[in-house]
Amino acid sequence: MTNLKNFKKIFPPNELPFRIFFNPDCMLHDTGFSYPECAQRLQSIIEGCLSLANKDFICFNYPPAASISQLTSLHPRDYLTRLETQCLQGREFFMSLDNPICPQTFDAILAAGGLAIALGNHLNSRKGGFALTRPPGHHAGIAKAEGFCFLNHAGLIERQIRKEYPKAKIFIIDFDVHHGNGTSDIFLEDNRIFYMSIHSSPKQTYPGSGHKDEKGERGGKGYTLNLPLPVGTDGDTWLKTVESNITEAISVFNPDFMLISAGFDAHVDDPFALMRVEDKHYLSIVSTLIAITETYCPGRLGIILEGGYSLDVLRHLVPEIISQLSAFYNRD
Ligand SMILES: [Zn+2]
Repeated sequence: MTNLKNFKKIFPPNELPFRIFFNPDCMLHDTGFSYPECAQRLQSIIEGCLSLANKDFICFNYPPAASISQLTSLHPRDYLTRLETQCLQGREFFMSLDNPICPQTFDAILAAGGLAIALGNHLNSRKGGFALTRPPGHHAGIAKAEGFCFLNHAGLIERQIRKEYPKAKIFIIDFDVHHGNGTSDIFLEDNRIFYMSIHSSPKQTYPGSGHKDEKGERGGKGYTLNLPLPVGTDGDTWLKTVESNITEAISVFNPDFMLISAGFDAHVDDPFALMRVEDKHYLSIVSTLIAITETYCPGRLGIILEGGYSLDVLRHLVPEIISQLSAFYNRD
């Protein structure tokens, strides 16, 4: 890893409207040999950013780690202290065999939480950004770690927005190949959040939820839209499915904020090999989401990193998306 001091020379923090939120401590979470959710994922994204031809539009910010108190806006204190204790004790896993931990894991978790909080604040100031959150978050519940996730970053951003805009309506689109069961559960009864997820069939894929007939509960009924697709779905079908469903959902909901849970594990080159989405489809969906954001809530587009386990895909595609977003929002 290029050290942060040199990195800051190439990407000095500045005041451009669209910002990339990054904390190298997110790489302290060591998951062991050849584990798919690894520190090299972030390293690959950073390497890709360093080799971008035009860096003028790219604006990195380096927010501090979150405090435990800040995280209690969403997660119970006893869950957080149990997590911290078990990391420091040198335990191997926390709550699930999918969640290996090491003594520094809690530092990485606080760093990632800090990125989510910074992005929430930035969205409140009518600007957008991309938080390079690791470990990822969309499988984490309020007091439940699973699927590589410990904190729910979409939930933390929602809490941060809510502090300034108690009635804000937030549209979350989750295009990770796995259903974001944590995010879905948190907002299941909430009609101020519209959660739309496109993912691989729950009959064949972890976490086994996200069926088409799960549409939200009680007051939140009609505010969850699941778009499961069979394993092996190609990128054209994936893109068409998002585009043909999002327009109506969003025009009815009329959001104040747009949030993308961006996982890149539906990519044809991802080792999970669940779908065949290509670079061009991701770039196209990001263009669509930029256009939608400009129509409904100009500038307020927040992106958080979820899954995606091909280091090569992360190295070239995420920086390209960062370029695309930065060139659009930082153009003036
Ligand atoms: Zn995933």
